[in-house]
Amino acid sequence: MMAKKWLAGSLMLIVMSVFVLAGCGGEKENSANTSSGASDKPVASASVLDEIKSRGKLIVGVKYDTKLFGLKNPANNEVEGFDVDIAKALAKSILGDETKLELKEVTSKTRIPMLDNNEIDLIVATMTITEERKEQVDFSDVYFKAGQSLLVKKGSAIKSIDDVTKGTKVLAVKGSTSVDNIIEKAPDATVLEFDNYQDAFAALKAGQGDVLTTDNAILYGMMAQDAGYEVVGEPFTDEPYGIAIKKGKTALVEAVNKELAALKASGDYNKIYEKWIGTAPTE
Ligand code: GLU
Repeated sequence: MMAKKWLAGSLMLIVMSVFVLAGCGGEKENSANTSSGASDKPVASASVLDEIKSRGKLIVGVKYDTKLFGLKNPANNEVEGFDVDIAKALAKSILGDETKLELKEVTSKTRIPMLDNNEIDLIVATMTITEERKEQVDFSDVYFKAGQSLLVKKGSAIKSIDDVTKGTKVLAVKGSTSVDNIIEKAPDATVLEFDNYQDAFAALKAGQGDVLTTDNAILYGMMAQDAGYEVVGEPFTDEPYGIAIKKGKTALVEAVNKELAALKASGDYNKIYEKWIGTAPTE
């Protein structure tokens, strides 16, 4: 009888201490959440810029495989292109020095997750502003206007989007607007998706598809890499590019927009445009 009582008492104690411990753990977790959560709150304006300034560099996600926008030059390991020059101008305006810039490679599929994980401050990577993406990230003002088009081997029977029909094999890149658009415009075609643009272009050259689709500006870069290929037909979508910023970093959006406006006002935007695209911007 005594032993039973003792046993019941001890069990009670054990159960109680488990509750107390769990409670403590819970509290600890809560307080940890509160303190780390503070930086996830819509960051009070200046602090986003302060963080970048105290770090001493702006970290920007750019393409490494997209000629004219962001392409790694194997001769000197430099990443070069329109987007890279825009990133340099932003580093100069935020940190006073265009070399205070760290570039990280993104693809169409990895760029939003990398921004979400705080691996990069900005995405400057041929990224179209869309309503769907606006639910995930904030965008700057439009800094480049492209439109989706088609790249084929010279002499191909495909001359425009109307020729992309049942049986046409279309090559595109995962996570791009190009995939959704081509499915909408040519629902009977077969779409093959690749991780990046060099893989998609290699597949076109290897005859794995009839046509590669993405923004005309990117396709012009491929034409410059291999004269055996050409852009056909008129662009069939509007692809306004924006610089993407993690939601809540309002001060950074403002700083980026201010610099984009300054670049346009000074004429430097036109210089960068002409350097890479070869013509003046259309407006
Ligand atoms: N501008 C399109 C997009 O944002 C195609 C280019 C790209 O894949 O980055 O998806």
